[in-house]
Amino acid sequence: TAVRRPSPITVQSENTVYSDEFITSTFFNRGADVTVADGQFAVKPTVQPYQFQTKRAVSKTGLMMIGVGGNNGSTLCATILANRHNICWHTKNGLQQPNYVGSVLRASTVRIGAEPATGNEVHVPVSDVLPMVHPNDLVLGGWDISGVPMDKAMARAKVLNYDLQRQVAPHMAALGKPLPSIYYPDFIAANQEARADNLVPGTDKQAHLEHIRADIRKFKEDNELDRVVVFWTANTERYSDIIPGVNDTAENLLEAIRASHSEVSPSTLFAVAAILEGEPFVNGAPQNTFVPGAIDLAEKKQSFIGGDDLKSGQTKLKSVLAEFLVNAGIKPLSIASYNHLGNNDGRNLSAQRQFRSKEISKSSVVDDMVNANRLLFKAPDVSKSGKTDKGEHPDHIVVIKYVPAVGDSKRAIDEYYSEIFCGGRSTINIFNECEDSLLATPLILDLTILTELLTRVKYRKVEPGVEGSFRPLYSVLSLLSYMLKAPLVKPGTEVVNALSRQRNALESFLKACIGLEGNSDLLLETRIW
Ligand code: NAD
Repeated sequence: TAVRRPSPITVQSENTVYSDEFITSTFFNRGADVTVADGQFAVKPTVQPYQFQTKRAVSKTGLMMIGVGGNNGSTLCATILANRHNICWHTKNGLQQPNYVGSVLRASTVRIGAEPATGNEVHVPVSDVLPMVHPNDLVLGGWDISGVPMDKAMARAKVLNYDLQRQVAPHMAALGKPLPSIYYPDFIAANQEARADNLVPGTDKQAHLEHIRADIRKFKEDNELDRVVVFWTANTERYSDIIPGVNDTAENLLEAIRASHSEVSPSTLFAVAAILEGEPFVNGAPQNTFVPGAIDLAEKKQSFIGGDDLKSGQTKLKSVLAEFLVNAGIKPLSIASYNHLGNNDGRNLSAQRQFRSKEISKSSVVDDMVNANRLLFKAPDVSKSGKTDKGEHPDHIVVIKYVPAVGDSKRAIDEYYSEIFCGGRSTINIFNECEDSLLATPLILDLTILTELLTRVKYRKVEPGVEGSFRPLYSVLSLLSYMLKAPLVKPGTEVVNALSRQRNALESFLKACIGLEGNSDLLLETRIW
């Protein structure tokens, strides 16, 4: 069922080999080892060759969303169907075509080089760099604790223009009702209870796990899929407590599920089901679905996971502005963020424990920029307070309020108050009106399509005299960071929040897989005679 798409790019180099099945590239990973002693930095450049092998045939891919009947889930289904059936709709501004604006993969470009005769730069859509699934081809399905059929769920969400809803409704109705889901009331806000009418019965978590695994298998078989991406876009849950012996290792977590332990959340249960089925799982909400035992299980099963929390509006801008200020040598003293929104997500977040998950996810976003500039921010004083001192940081506050009237049209207000030259002060205020689900939908698509691609890429280290075999990438897909508010990374490695660095990493990786060097903005030819 997998399809091989013709590639519009051919790299003519001894480092890139095309076969019917694979694109194989050799890539030189360049870095530097730095030794710091007595204020001196001894820097030794390093280079390590790797080979990447990308399977050319894209998988026939299904997207199973948990929370498919919500604002994001229903908007995603309706907009894919509008694109697939080329449904145009009337607005007060005229006729609107469906499109994928807001998708990094389908609506942004990568520079691959320049034409020798003119020196003009050549850009291609990101989705042309390697063979990727087209969003129109995703097979859609999923679960929801609300049994409202998908056409009615779209109407309930109040996101899409009426003329689009009217035309896409029959296609949405054909998707039917979401599959019954797992509901443990303790994990989401009490105000969601009235929605919960479509549930897998019982309280036995092992039986629930097997039920969800069977759903994934059946969806895969019924639709003759090679790959199913399982995606949490359900309500934000409270944090799970990390309890030694319960959710700290893969074995303990599986045992806790067998014992129906109260601290195993629905999202962790879905993640475990996907991992055990060998299908990737992405968490689009802020809670700690990936307890240490879940990450351990993904590593052991060599399954892929990614998360946490879609980075759609306020935080995306913050990961640009904080980087801009700090890299410009300006010192943010405080960042104060307010949000109000009126959709069901906002309603759920009006409960303290669910708000807390979102607050944590929104709070760490400036850490790496601050840590990279100890000229502006004092480094932790290890001698005084040991590991608890995190060094100097800007004050950072996040407030979220539920205001039903504004619906899905979230308002985000941010003040950046900074120290400038010789004790001066600068204040930047941003008022950002986000159409929440229309910002989130393209991110879900990008995450799904990239995840499918990353399951087809293998690598090996090139070492003299050793012909190692190709291995899959590491289980935690940190290359997805650009679309995520609190990126999950390999335990023990540093999180990169700065948006431009996240984008560079992604571009460089895609290019490396076809044997091209990463981004160079040096443009040396333009600077010399
Ligand atoms: P929503 O409330 O409209 O949809 C969530 C859906 O999940 C609902 O239909 C609900 O019935 C269902 N649900 C709850 N618990 C479930 C369970 N255990 N199993 C199956 N279904 C369940 O919310 P939304 O606006 O679509 O947002 C979805 C999630 O994405 C939220 O957690 C939100 O915080 C997160 N998020 C959204 C954005 C954005 O811009 N829209 C950005 C970042 C994160």
